[in-house]
Amino acid sequence: MFSTHGTSEDDRLDARGAQQVLRRLVRDSRPFWRTITFAATLIVIWTLCGLAGPMLVRYAIDHGIADRRPRVLNVAVIGYVVVAGASLLLGRTQIRAVGRAGEGVLADLRKRVFDHLMAQPMSFYDHQKAGVLVARMTSDVDSMSELVQFGLQHFVSSALLLVVTLVVLAVLSWQLTLVCLVLLGVVAVASRRFQRNSNVAYLVIRERVGENLSAMQESIAGVRVIQAYAREDEQIRRFTASNRSLLDAHLRSVRISTSYFGLVEFTGVAALASIIGVGGWLTHRDTISIGTVAAFVLLVANLFEPVQQLSQLFNTVQSAGASLNKLYGLLDTEPALMPGSRQLPARGVLEVDAVSFQYIGAQQPALVDATLRIGDGERLALIGPTGAGKSTLAKLISRLYDPTSGCVRFAGVDLRDATTESLRSRIVVVPQEGFLFGGSIRSNIRLARPAATDAEIDAAVAAIGATEHFAGLGLDTEVRERGTRLSAGERQLVSLARAALVDPAVLVLDEATSNLDPGTEAEVERAMEHLMLGRTVIVVAHRLSTVRRADRIAVIDDGRLAELGTHDELDALGGRYHALISAWRSTS
Ligand code: ADP
Repeated sequence: MFSTHGTSEDDRLDARGAQQVLRRLVRDSRPFWRTITFAATLIVIWTLCGLAGPMLVRYAIDHGIADRRPRVLNVAVIGYVVVAGASLLLGRTQIRAVGRAGEGVLADLRKRVFDHLMAQPMSFYDHQKAGVLVARMTSDVDSMSELVQFGLQHFVSSALLLVVTLVVLAVLSWQLTLVCLVLLGVVAVASRRFQRNSNVAYLVIRERVGENLSAMQESIAGVRVIQAYAREDEQIRRFTASNRSLLDAHLRSVRISTSYFGLVEFTGVAALASIIGVGGWLTHRDTISIGTVAAFVLLVANLFEPVQQLSQLFNTVQSAGASLNKLYGLLDTEPALMPGSRQLPARGVLEVDAVSFQYIGAQQPALVDATLRIGDGERLALIGPTGAGKSTLAKLISRLYDPTSGCVRFAGVDLRDATTESLRSRIVVVPQEGFLFGGSIRSNIRLARPAATDAEIDAAVAAIGATEHFAGLGLDTEVRERGTRLSAGERQLVSLARAALVDPAVLVLDEATSNLDPGTEAEVERAMEHLMLGRTVIVVAHRLSTVRRADRIAVIDDGRLAELGTHDELDALGGRYHALISAWRSTS
């Protein structure tokens, strides 16, 4: 057996960090204090019950058996059974109470982390991998669950058991206690060493499992190439080597365990032999009673087990502390986009005023000093080379990010001053790829406005001219997670229907760069046309037809607004627009 938690260097907490984490955990557990106090009290009584048993045995032997008093013997035996029963009951109640408190704290923490993640702005997700975030919610929370489930119980009962047993033993016979302490020292040192070694062994195993898996995955994934070049032998050699080293790592861990448990078992036997030997000698000299020797035999386990458990707890606490530290780090990232309190008017002019923007961690700004005014109902196409900053401008207009300097206003109101609710109902972004959640097509459209009735959803679908398309499939068709059953074009239609359901004043569209399936392409284009009618539109355009239908075109180049005007104006200018359009014409 070895600990299931790695404590690699970056997983370690220093003493100050540990203290801070602990203080915060205590604060976070406040709502559960009553349950925790109840559980702790039960643990104390339960532990004392465990001590009472051997004391009753001692009493029974010395006063019931040795003194030949059957009544005393009976009372002691019945007392022993009652205490054992009570201990069983208390043990169960205690485990339940600990579970309730611990799992409650964890569920609370999971919820807070999740709420926090949902509140994070886009910029947060630029720097975080989904996998890492999911790991925070799962493995980091899990590594704490061992602590909250068993940690409190082990810590309270082990520490208490150790101290109280030592005191009781010392009062019964200091000579025998001294003998036990020597052996206890051996177990304590061995346990600490075992925990450390088994941890290292575990980390090595984890690493080699990874290597082994990747050797296997690569060979299977690349089997065609391997066979085409007859490289099977080499792959087999590679796998055999990594398999061998994994086997070695496992065997090492087994060796560590067997030598430790062997030592612990032997020390236990040695302890019993010493107690009976030395104890027997002491009874001959009438220093102690036979009952005391019996109590020692029964109580000595109360010394060894807690020492083993406390050393195990040390690792659990360390890895749980490190996990908690990471979770708190995540919770401490402030949401950068604070909503304002102003209601955005129903319609208005959109102004981009001297806006510059730089992504966090980027070397250069993605947008520099962009200024433009988009009239109510105007259609503006953004074009330019890849990486020029078109999407960035679109994201700033819809306040997925805040400008580094300058501001974006709608109907004269700075977007930063607007309430989230009015912002999201006035300005809607349709991304390049519509994401579908598990559920029906209808529920996917409803996502845009949860209060919408079925009739309103039908109307939204009708507004983009897709009623006929979905009539065949039915709006109540279930789409699997990520919408694998719908084609790219159909997913786009769902996205557009979502936008239609909100009925915004401003529509920000990111046109798909790749061509959709020919069957739905025309439909998607028609749906976009329907949706754009009567709204202010900013479209990141990749198609000539979209550009031609725009009122004005903004050419973005290297983060700057290079040209702005109508098609005819810019074409006549003979600049970047002219060059881009000519290139498009020749390829399409
Ligand atoms: P376009 O839409 O014109 O292709 P973008 O607005 O997506 O260009 O990108 C503009 C610049 O900003 C590019 O240099 C790009 O690499 C960078 N960029 C885009 N998104 C991010 C991001 N999330 N984090 C850091 N840099 C980004």
